[in-house]
Amino acid sequence: MSKHSEEIVIGLEVHVQLTNLKTKLFCSCSNDYRGSEPNTYVCPICLGMPGTLPVVNKKVIDYATRLALALNCEINNQFWYFRKNYHYPDLSKGFQISQYNKAGGRAFADGGKITIKLNNHKRSIILNRIHLEEDPARLVHKGSIVNSPYTLVDYNRSGVCLIEIVTEPIIRSPEEAREFLKQLKSIIQYTGISDLNLQGSVRVDANISLKGHERSEVKNINSFREVERALRHEIVRQKNLIKRGKNLTQETRHWDEKRRITVSLRTKEFEADYRYFPDQDLVPIEINDEFIQEIRLKLPEMPNERAIRLKRDYNLSEFDSDNLVLDKNIADFYEKGVNSDAAFGPDEFKYFCNWLMNDVSKILNQQNKNITETQLHYRQIVDLINLINEGKITSKIAKEILPDLMNGFPISEVIEKKGKKRISDENLLRDLIVEVIEEYKSIVNDCRENPKAIEALIGRVMQKTKGQADPGITRKILLQSLVQFGIIN
Ligand SMILES: [Zn+2]
Repeated sequence: MSKHSEEIVIGLEVHVQLTNLKTKLFCSCSNDYRGSEPNTYVCPICLGMPGTLPVVNKKVIDYATRLALALNCEINNQFWYFRKNYHYPDLSKGFQISQYNKAGGRAFADGGKITIKLNNHKRSIILNRIHLEEDPARLVHKGSIVNSPYTLVDYNRSGVCLIEIVTEPIIRSPEEAREFLKQLKSIIQYTGISDLNLQGSVRVDANISLKGHERSEVKNINSFREVERALRHEIVRQKNLIKRGKNLTQETRHWDEKRRITVSLRTKEFEADYRYFPDQDLVPIEINDEFIQEIRLKLPEMPNERAIRLKRDYNLSEFDSDNLVLDKNIADFYEKGVNSDAAFGPDEFKYFCNWLMNDVSKILNQQNKNITETQLHYRQIVDLINLINEGKITSKIAKEILPDLMNGFPISEVIEKKGKKRISDENLLRDLIVEVIEEYKSIVNDCRENPKAIEALIGRVMQKTKGQADPGITRKILLQSLVQFGIIN
């Protein structure tokens, strides 16, 4: 195979529901349809009844402007909505109201970029455009989309506002796609326009090809996490076909999350098939510079700016500050915490960061929770760090009691209840160490030859004290005792 065909070209179209809006894009139905009975959040407009007239939700323009500014796009001062004509059961009108950047049409905003870091290398992923459109209804298949005997339609989602973010086809690997989506998710969270943790709030279409061959489009990947998997699979599939001398065809494929494969849905439709034309029921939207400026001033600090500030203000490494800012809730928690104790300095800033990035994040991942969904208060991490610094608990104990703190139990109560105070009483430790030396004669003998065996003895003392023995004092007394007994010099 020539090197030429190894080159991967990926372009992403990311559809994000503006979940933080109160109402849908063109009607006053509630946007917050999740968990409600099917077809209850509907009206003649979002059901697509003939003769109804859509009216643009003004807040949508505010939200789209926020995102466009955060992504450094060029906002178009005037645009029309376009009709994208196609028939599908999830689209009762026979067309989707969208935007079109040809035939006199314009996107909401053009260009923009997101800078990603991968293996210590920075790269800008350039955007083509962002535009607004309405979400179709939701098709509920019985079983798999491929062999479902029937399909139900729920119009609650019909007319919910989507913002589509389209990259240039310049992403070179599934890892780059993952990093791009990670940054995009973070930026969207900071702008406050959507909660991407909500089920179904994001869908990704990925165009993917090997240079010199036809591309396929993998449709409706339902989470950012699945994108990397779908891309990996599709690359292997295309490479295998080329290896066997087959021709690739331009087609639309579906990502089957359960079987972790892509399946062919149809040959790719072309733009002309959609007969795009301006929607005459909607007036052109005009956005003036004053409005844009107003939004710009209200925009919060974005993650990349925040990372630079955290690195500087709290003496953190670039790696730490980059990771800390990814989730706005974590970064807010961090800043409130480290600023709530005037005695905190660079050491504590680093400890606090480590607690969040390692132990707290691990528990959040296991429980699939956001930090705001736990009972953990930033003061508890402050107290934890202070108790360790004062020698009242060991960091091992601190790790053990963390899950209880995250469930809302006060730190003093947890330590009391679990009897988890650090043991630093030298006489008590000396007695325990003598016991261990008598019980584990063969390990003691090993200490003569192998200094590492000492660690095993410290481990036995820890076992006896359920991890409460101070490791430093234990080591000191153990070494003294071994010398005393003539086992080591
Ligand atoms: Zn409606």
